[in-house]
Formats: sequence, C-alpha cells, structure tokens
Amino acid sequence: MPTYQDTQLFINGVWGPAAAGRTLPVVNPATHAQIGTVAYAEKADLDRALDAADKGFKVWRKVSAYERSKIMRKAADLFRSRADRIAELMTLEQGKPVGEAKLEVMAGADIIEWFAEEGRRAYGRVIPARAEGVYQLVVKEPVGPVAAFTPWNFPINQAVRKLSAALSTGCSIILKAPEETPASPAELVRAFIDAGVPANVISLVYGSPSEISSYLIPHPVIRKITFTGSTPVGKLLAAMAGQHMKRATMELGGHAPVIIFDDADIDIAAKTMSFMKYRNAGQVCVSPTRFLVQEGVYKQFVEKFVEGAKSMKVGDGFDKDTKMATLANPRRQAAMIANMEDAKKHGGKLQTGGYPIGEKGNFFEPTVVTELENSAAAMNTEPFGPLAIINPFKTFDDAVTEANRLPYGLAAYAWTRSAKTANNIAAQVETGMMTINHLGFALPEVPFGGVKDSGYGSEGGTEALEPYLVGKFITQAGL
Ligand code: NAD
Repeated sequence: MPTYQDTQLFINGVWGPAAAGRTLPVVNPATHAQIGTVAYAEKADLDRALDAADKGFKVWRKVSAYERSKIMRKAADLFRSRADRIAELMTLEQGKPVGEAKLEVMAGADIIEWFAEEGRRAYGRVIPARAEGVYQLVVKEPVGPVAAFTPWNFPINQAVRKLSAALSTGCSIILKAPEETPASPAELVRAFIDAGVPANVISLVYGSPSEISSYLIPHPVIRKITFTGSTPVGKLLAAMAGQHMKRATMELGGHAPVIIFDDADIDIAAKTMSFMKYRNAGQVCVSPTRFLVQEGVYKQFVEKFVEGAKSMKVGDGFDKDTKMATLANPRRQAAMIANMEDAKKHGGKLQTGGYPIGEKGNFFEPTVVTELENSAAAMNTEPFGPLAIINPFKTFDDAVTEANRLPYGLAAYAWTRSAKTANNIAAQVETGMMTINHLGFALPEVPFGGVKDSGYGSEGGTEALEPYLVGKFITQAGL
C-alpha cells in the first residue's frame, strides 16, 4: 500500500500546522482505517491567510499576463510529472480507482495550461468616441482576493479550475479544500508554489467549512466567492455573498436526465451511459441519473444497460481490474441504503444491485431501478451514488416535461439519430450543458455550469475568466 502524508496549512509561503495545533483525522474510505491527519484552521490562521491574500494580490496583479502564463505552464508540467504519486494519494483518501485518479491529475494539468494561455487573451476593448481626440477604453482588471470552497468528489478537478482562473487573471486566492481528501489538492498547491507563484498569492486552509465560509465571505479583503457543492449549501453561501455584495460563482448539484429516443443506437447508448453512470461511483455532479427511454426501445435499453452495470467490477481502487471503487464517505453509503428502502415503497423494480458490499469500506453495488414513481426520493434529490433510474416515456413532449420537472439544470444527455429531434431536444431542455450522442462535457475550453438551482457562472471556456475580472471604463481626451 502506498504511503500517505499528513496535510498542513499553506499560509505566507510556509507549510505548517494550525496556530492552535488542532487536526482532523483522514480516513481511507475503502478500509475505514485512519491514514493521516489534516490541520484545522481557526480564526487566527484565517486572519493570516486574509492578510496574505491582501498582500499577495498587490504583488500578483502587477505580474504581467505573459509572466503569469509562464509560471502556470511550469506548474502544469510539474503537476503532470508527479501524477503517479498524486493519484495514489487521491485513491487512498477518496477511494476512486487509481487510473481514474491519474486521469483527473492529467486533466488538471491540461486545465492549468488552458487557463495559462487564456489569461493572456483577457482583452478589454476600445469604444468609438463621439468627440475627436477622445479614447474610450474598457480595461479588464482582476477582481481581487478570491475565497474558494471545493468538495471531496473530485479533489483536484474542482480546485484546479478555481485556482487557474484566479491566477491567470491576476487574483490572489484562499482555497478551502476538502477535509476528507486534503492531500491531493495540497499537491496541486505545491506544484504552483514550486513553479514560482509568489508567497501570499495562494493560501490553503482546512477546518470547519461553515466557520471558514462565514468568516471569509463577509471579510472586506475578499472580493469574490466560488463554491462547488450541494445546492442547499450553495444557496446559503450565495445569500451571504449577496448580503456583502460579493461576486459569486456557484457550481451546485444536478439530477441529469438522459433521453433515449426510439431511433437511437441502443448498444452504443447503453454502453456509454453505463460507463458514465458508475464513474467515480456516481459521485459526479453531471452523473446521468433519470434515464427516460422511449417505449419502443425501453426493454432493449434496460437489458443492455443492466448488462453494463453487471460488468462493472467493484473493488479496491488499487486493484487494476477495478472499474468502480468505494463511495468516498459513509454518508453516501447511508444515502444509497435510504434511497433503496424508499424506492421499494414507490414502485421501483430492482433490476440489479441495491445493497452495500462487505463489512469494510463504503462499497455499494452498481444499481439499476426501473419504473420508479416521481414521488420517490431518488427521483427528486441527486443520489450522488451508483444508482441509475430507468423509466419509459411515450412522446417527445412527455420526455421534455419530465426532464424539466426538477428545479435542477446542470447537465442533460440525449441519444437520437434524427437531426430534427437533436435540435429540438437541445432547445427545449432547461440545462446548462447538453451532450447528444456522445460524452462531451468538462474539457477546459468549453463552458461548465448550470442554470436554475444548479447555480450560476461557468468554470470552463472563455466564460470562466469573466467572473474574476472587472471592466474599468476609462475615457480620455488629449489636452
Ligand atoms: P454537504 O452538502 O454538507 O457538503 C457539500 C460540500 O460543501 C462539502 O465539500 C462541504 O465541505 C462543503 N460545505 C458544507 N457546508 C459548508 C459551508 N457552510 N461553507 C462552505 N462549505 C461547506 O454534504 P456532503 O455529504 O459532503 O455532500 C452531500 C451532497 O452534496 C451530495 O449528495 C451532492 O448532492 C452534493 N455535492 C455536490 C458536489 C458537486 O460536484 N456539485 C460535490 C460534493 C457534494
């Protein structure tokens, strides 16, 4: 078993313990054994981080976009070169298969590189003036110190988007990374520091999420908030940000519909979507959840999808044959058990899975339930676990009505061979992201974000830079 390391805070350019010396245990979700500790920041530590962010912003905003880009590209190289070790840390603390963890690290390096380049193109504009000799300019400036809050399901992916957007635009940042999976995001920060990001530009803290957010968000030093996590917490933080007139990006929960039309390629759809469903054991904000399948292909799709679910080898994240590993914490396993009990009361027919596996860890079987009533808990709240729900539909309009029934609007999937159906479904589903006939989400260069209760703002594409920039209008006449 690879070794694990305790995680410290990073403030004022120094890795160290919390001022009060407090720590939290870190547990391997596959075994429930304690593998290390993480430092627990309190008010004194947060004050140091705020002071650092204030000083760091004054330094970093003056570094040219060209120079920032060079440092970030070096960070990407360092991060990539350390991928094997960082993936091991992630599997130890989060549970996911080590191959998936390595892909997350490699994708993280790509994200850093993309933002490094895009930061050099954060152009302002010149507006034609009404009077001769007048120049009207819109200059893009960094918004200021950022407070970022990231979750445990993708310890790198969620943090790297926020760090890269902030750094590429000239902002300093305090990252509160997840206490349950602290070591891999700490390695991300280490790569930036080793690449030459000046002391104070990045701080890394852990502790009580609510205490840290309620201290940082209202603080005058902080100018922007960014959060990835659940909708209830997102609403709380967005309200706090609003009260203190802070900009916010909210990447929240979803409940993705997958619409399979009669004319779809059922083999490819079932194979692709079962892979996507059980990736990271379903703990993915864009995880496909409500499968809506047109009546003519319903039976065929269920059979094929169940085949896919049954072929998922569940095991330890370090076993090379493992396709799906443990859930990341006992809360997710308990939520899956509760969902299954509730599904029985709401007409759900269990096609495969449905139970925890073994005594150790938070393992749960890849599960398929069909014909679940809309009143069931899992039809309304994201299961965030390895549960696929498959229900039949008759008409295009029925599918759209069900897809739009929930307050969420993060991701949606559709499968059809008809260009007309593809156009119409893309137009009518209320979603931030739609992928048709393939999987195409989450590349650095494309937008990533939701609508409705799934939040606002984008964490990918050119849109991702805007929330970290303010436009200053300057109008100037020659004397
Ligand atoms: P949770 O809702 O308490 O926490 C979700 C995340 O928010 C965690 O990272 C947590 O540290 C953070 N958080 C919680 N309260 C906070 C606060 N007051 N201030 C700042 N950060 C805070 O519970 P959980 O058990 O960790 O996750 C439950 C649900 O959250 C999941 O079922 C899923 O729906 C959602 N979730 C979504 C994502 C995502 O990628 N959008 C990631 C993780 C969890």
